[in-house]
Parts: sequence; structure tokens; C-alpha cells
Amino acid sequence: MKPDEVKHKRYILVVDDDHELLKLVALRLCHEGYRVVAVESGESALAHIKIEKPGLVLLDIMMPGMSGVEILKRIKAMDPNVPVCPVCMVTAVYDEDEAKRCFAAGAYEYVTKPIDFEQLRKAVLIKLFPD
Ligand SMILES: [Mg+2]
Repeated sequence: MKPDEVKHKRYILVVDDDHELLKLVALRLCHEGYRVVAVESGESALAHIKIEKPGLVLLDIMMPGMSGVEILKRIKAMDPNVPVCPVCMVTAVYDEDEAKRCFAAGAYEYVTKPIDFEQLRKAVLIKLFPD
């Protein structure tokens, strides 16, 4: 593994316009040993990803301005020569069609709020960060 991959490995970017929820999720992941950057908009998320690729993006779907699905598409459309980071969509309301659209756009996983951290660990964290 290259040094830059090691550096990015346990870095999670959390994107949610709900400030309190964002804080809660970020704290929980920090406690579990991840390096977390928490941002409240798609613009901030894209700016961060341009500078440093996270090992995972946890991305809220319902946000003012750019929606999570639009942000997902923009992440996936970034430099085709650079491997893009996995994106886990987070939604307040499960919608099968929306889930399909997210997977079609390249989402790694789709989870509902409130985030079940055990489920997140099994479905996403263990696979992306095996050690
Ligand atoms: Mg929201």
C-alpha cells in the first residue's frame, strides 16, 4: 500500500445539513478511531474531496441547494484517472426508486436515519477499513 493510501484510509467525510446530527455522527465515528471531517453542504464536500480523497463519504440526500444525489454524481464525475472514494448515501425516508437511482449513480451503500452504527459497521466500515 502506498503511503498516501495509508494516510487516507481511515478518513471519513460526513455531509449533512442537520448540524446536530452531523455532530453526533462525527463524534461517534471519532470515538471509533476514524478521522472525521464534517461539512454541511455539497460545495464544502466537493472542495474537501478535491484536496484529499476520503476512505468513505457519508452523504445525506435531502439537503438545500445541491442534493446528495447530485453531489454523488459530481464526485463520480471527478478526474477519471483518480479512483473515486466510496459514497454511502444516508436518507431519512427509504425510497426504493431513490435507492436504485443512487446505486445506478455509483453509490456504495444506502442507509436510513437514524444511522444504525452496528449495521453501518457490518455493511460498510469493516469492508472499507478491514484493519
Ligand atoms: Mg438533510
